[in-house]
Amino acid sequence: MEILKNYSLKNHNTFGIDAKADFYVSIRNNEEIEELINTSLFQNDKFFILGGGSNVLFTGNFKGLIIDINIRGIKILETNDDKITIEVGAGEHWDDLVTICLNNKFFGLENLALIPGKVGAAPVQNIGAYAVEQKDFFYSLTGYNIEKKQFETLNYDDCKFNYRDSVFKHELKNNFIITQVRYKLNKNENINLSYKELSQEISKFNIEKPDAKLIYDTVRRLRTHKLPDYRLLGNAGSFFKNPIISKGKFDKLKEIFTELQGYTLANNKVKVSAGWLIEQCGWKGRQIGKAGVSEKHALIIVNHGNAKGHDILNLSEQIKQSIIDKYDIELENEVLIIE
Ligand SMILES: Cc1cc2nc3c(=O)[nH]c(=O)nc-3n(C[C@H](O)[C@H](O)[C@H](O)COP(=O)(O)OP(=O)(O)OC[C@H]3O[C@@H](n4cnc5c(N)ncnc54)[C@H](O)[C@@H]3O)c2cc1C
Repeated sequence: MEILKNYSLKNHNTFGIDAKADFYVSIRNNEEIEELINTSLFQNDKFFILGGGSNVLFTGNFKGLIIDINIRGIKILETNDDKITIEVGAGEHWDDLVTICLNNKFFGLENLALIPGKVGAAPVQNIGAYAVEQKDFFYSLTGYNIEKKQFETLNYDDCKFNYRDSVFKHELKNNFIITQVRYKLNKNENINLSYKELSQEISKFNIEKPDAKLIYDTVRRLRTHKLPDYRLLGNAGSFFKNPIISKGKFDKLKEIFTELQGYTLANNKVKVSAGWLIEQCGWKGRQIGKAGVSEKHALIIVNHGNAKGHDILNLSEQIKQSIIDKYDIELENEVLIIE
């Protein structure tokens, strides 16, 4: 384990922000975590646990220690005729996992193809796309509880998954280093076409029984078409969450803004499309300095080249304010802002 000093994070965040960390360490196995925890550096400095950096915005240099989780490995734990349980190192790339599963006929994750980042971050954010969330196949995970100074295994209920949310953003925030994640996948293809855009796209093929490979390919094609490539135009996917408002408020707004789009939830709440709100406020494709809103997708803030973290943050705040002014809706960041 080598601790590096004054380390550039430019290649460790998909915004491509050239922030420097005072200290940086790459962790390759569980033993290195225990070794690190006992160093005075860890005990005295602030730290941040980093995956692929695809859901974070560094607003400046990081005055502390970046812990980059690179624990690899995928193994089968249990299998029967219907299900297979696998254990995956937190440092594996999520999209590689999806591809490996499909190639081995372990089904379920295909709707989540092409989401950037590492496996360890997937439960933190409870990643989701095309009507599937990682929680739908989650079995358990192991990680290091910093306060208790021990490895622990958490099951589904312990993780308190919700829309882009989990216990790791609350009670266990900055206190739990995820090292291995387990998923229970299907041995039989049981495809999920409940997302309208996906089912419409698949229906164009006129195939009576679409299979998981078709879902996987279609999701990749849709995403490639719809989202800017962060390797060419730095971004962290959706910058904001879709806001959830009361049905009463939604109905009132709908009287004024008849085209307002919403998805009714069970608890008398409505999830509103943040992208639509942002587009209606005229932000799509706009650029302020080196920061801008994607031309492809209004929910994505992009780095047009050498933007500073603060440029991106300032733009996000202006967007938020305009949504409050027009709709009285407060957007919540999906991207984590790191000071
Ligand atoms: C182009 C693009 C498209 C995207 N599309 C989607 C999408 O469709 N759906 C979606 O849900 N997200 C999407 N995202 C967001 C992002 O890909 C996910 O949030 C992803 O899970 C982040 O993974 P990461 O490894 O990059 O995490 P990071 O950005 O490095 O970290 C995210 C959070 O997880 C924590 N974390 C990371 N690893 C660990 C660990 N081992 N232990 C404990 N905590 C950890 C970090 O501290 C931080 O709080 C997209 C991003 C981009 C750039």
